[in-house]
Amino acid sequence: MRKNSYDFELEKIKELIKERGARRVGLQLPEGLKTVATDIAAAISKETGAEVIISGDSCYGACDVDEKLERIVDVLFHFGHTEMGYGKEKCVFIELRSNVDIKPVVEKAVAEIKGDKVGLVATVQHVHALKEAKMLLVRYGKKAVIGKSNSLKYDGQVLGCDFSSAAMVPCEEILFIGSGSFHPAGLALYIGKRVIAADPFTMQIGIYEADEQRKKRYVAIERALDAKSFGIIIGMKSGQFNLSEAIALKRKAVEKGLNAYLIAMEEIREENLLGFKVGAFVNTACPRLAEDFVHFKKPVLSATEFEVVIGERSWEGIF
Ligand code: SF4
Repeated sequence: MRKNSYDFELEKIKELIKERGARRVGLQLPEGLKTVATDIAAAISKETGAEVIISGDSCYGACDVDEKLERIVDVLFHFGHTEMGYGKEKCVFIELRSNVDIKPVVEKAVAEIKGDKVGLVATVQHVHALKEAKMLLVRYGKKAVIGKSNSLKYDGQVLGCDFSSAAMVPCEEILFIGSGSFHPAGLALYIGKRVIAADPFTMQIGIYEADEQRKKRYVAIERALDAKSFGIIIGMKSGQFNLSEAIALKRKAVEKGLNAYLIAMEEIREENLLGFKVGAFVNTACPRLAEDFVHFKKPVLSATEFEVVIGERSWEGIF
């Protein structure tokens, strides 16, 4: 099955189900692909006779394997992410390679590249097309560098919380191939470079400047400077659970004469934070989560931003 230009690897899935003799199968898809979940479930149960259970909970990354579902099925297929060491041996990652032609959008992006050298990165869906993009850029007189990541599976691959492949390239600009603003905004924020985002599905080009992205975080830190009490959030999703960091941050706050409370939650949403009587929150779960709360009435900070607030780190040392 190929929907939305993604390869769902249904043949491989069916083979694996038969090979393992799996009778109960779990499916977990990112939010944007839940629309095809029932089609995949129907195709699998029709051809293998297995009972299929779809995870209805949110799924934000490879860090977010539905372990409760994994426990009650023989095999769990987790779509859209590369393996990061989360999930047990029952979890199989389907990376969802895209077959969309990236050439038109790369050609369109050339006009936005100011220098003659650019770093080239992509999400896992397009990472196999980076070499083709590199050769194309050469034809336009641009040298493209695909950085190696020491933590991710593929050269040039980026995650929302791992931009090491972009950090290593000796270039002032990054060309990102993929969809949405989550990755390019994070690249600009954490790597401090100008990012040209090229979406091969919509043919849209977006520009993300590091200063603009960083300004938003400085504003959040500033709003928390007067807070006297903090809610330290512990993310209960397995790949985002960091109890020791949360406890260490609480201790640091108390040492500075501040009040701090540990709050554990699976789904970190505004409505779940509203009732707590604290001046600001500190997030120890997904490091990108704090950015989702820029319009929330109380500031939500990352751990490093909180360290700036309590005077343990300089403003320049955040990113
Ligand atoms: S921690 Fe956040 S950014 Fe990193 S993989 Fe998980 S959801 Fe994505």
